[in-house]
Amino acid sequence: MLRSTRQSGRLRTRQGTQSTQPAPLRRPGAVAQTAVGTRSRASTGLGPARLGNVSHPLCRSDENQRLFSYERDVKAAFDNIVPTLKQISALQHEADFERQAQKIARAQLGFELPDDILADAWVTQLDMRRLFAWCVFSTYRNFCDDYYRNDPLAVDAGRGAEGFDTFLQACGFHTLDISPCADGRLAHLVRYVLRLPQQAVRRKSYAGALFDIEDSIQKWTEVELGRFREGLPNTADTATRYLKAVTYHYSSVDPEHQGCAAHGSDTAKAAQAGRERLYAFREAIENSFCCGASIDLLLIGLDTDTDAIRVHLPDAQGAIDLDAAVDALALFDKTAHSSASEAAHAIADAVRACTPDAQSGMAQLAERLIENNFSQIAYVRNHHGAHYADIGHAERFIGAGVGFEEIQLRNLMYFAYLNTVEEATADLDVGIKIFTGLNVAHGLPVPVIVRFDHHGHVPGSRERAEQHCARVAAAMQARFSNLAEQGLLHVLQVTRDCDAAESIELLACSVNAHKQAGGH
Ligand SMILES: [Zn+2]
Repeated sequence: MLRSTRQSGRLRTRQGTQSTQPAPLRRPGAVAQTAVGTRSRASTGLGPARLGNVSHPLCRSDENQRLFSYERDVKAAFDNIVPTLKQISALQHEADFERQAQKIARAQLGFELPDDILADAWVTQLDMRRLFAWCVFSTYRNFCDDYYRNDPLAVDAGRGAEGFDTFLQACGFHTLDISPCADGRLAHLVRYVLRLPQQAVRRKSYAGALFDIEDSIQKWTEVELGRFREGLPNTADTATRYLKAVTYHYSSVDPEHQGCAAHGSDTAKAAQAGRERLYAFREAIENSFCCGASIDLLLIGLDTDTDAIRVHLPDAQGAIDLDAAVDALALFDKTAHSSASEAAHAIADAVRACTPDAQSGMAQLAERLIENNFSQIAYVRNHHGAHYADIGHAERFIGAGVGFEEIQLRNLMYFAYLNTVEEATADLDVGIKIFTGLNVAHGLPVPVIVRFDHHGHVPGSRERAEQHCARVAAAMQARFSNLAEQGLLHVLQVTRDCDAAESIELLACSVNAHKQAGGH
């Protein structure tokens, strides 16, 4: 995608001059602490070390190690909150409570707690709900600062956004636009499952992967105009096309219950709905724009328990067969003891056998995605065994609005893409229901981050984003007033300037201590 590719370049150049570093997310004490976590997900979180030694000639082990450290540290930072607050809570009637509490918070969470919440503890009880929400929001802020300033998910040289753009164009595409399901178990699709540089791919998530056709037409128009006006990513006379991909999902461990909620855990239905939406988008482009305008399509299935993909390639006529897919997991096992070149050949053969008349560029891209996915299959097997332990929902917070490009980790955030609360009531209700089980059942509030990004060079854009956040936050608090009144729903409002290489900006927070959020 044009804009983010350019942005990422800017991000990198600015890094060299960045003088203020965010509080580091990776702290030595953090990992050990997670083991003490008492929430249901704690036992299913990322374990301390590697479980196995699964290898494959095409697996990139060094990258796996780096990606694992990042995932483990980010999740540990969130999962560390409850055990730390328990420890602090036990001290609340001691003489030098505030000093002790801050010392523990600094050491274990990496930030200090708001003085006003601690200072009130002696009168009644420490307000654990406010404190918990505040800690989740501060951890989110540190996580964002780290993401935008340090580029922790940077890919190896040659595999970055520019390298991928070149490869993509050689395959015959100038844009890769992916719509996965909004389920938190697919949030790591781009960087982890497909091992692509996240800046080079447009990702827009929707419940059931049922992407909005009008929004996609708008994006397509923007991209094609960019080719005409700026020659980016290539000039309009280059014979490349816009590629739209949909990722549906299923569960191999518990197909009846842990598949896609939006399609009643029915895998065939999820795949079919994805294909229908892709066809409808292509038809919309062909009917709305003359001169042979068209796009290419790709359908990908993801097993959220093993992270293995299956790829449905379109045939020469652009038709996608739901029963014909290349299964990355089967190929991985088949080629685990081959040489790297034999394994690469086996992938190419499998793609050709599945869809003999697929366009060669499409086949090449599918081969690359499958090869990349091998690293993720090894990742899951090495760190989790045959499949993830947390096959269900275990998100740490809800994200509502638009943006959130820093969310590249599985099961970190429940995503509700929306412009208004009214249009997304179903998604939000599902999110609140999930967090009723995860948090409210244990007396903890549901942390919601409302986010609308803006373009700093567009006059009034930031103010509109701020108003938008306030409107959605108020509507959320009204819709779930029973929770909000008990302190069981807390909302942080944030925005981010998409035109700058900066982190997020905090706008308002129901905890009322937002000015100190982040602790630095
Ligand atoms: Zn889904």
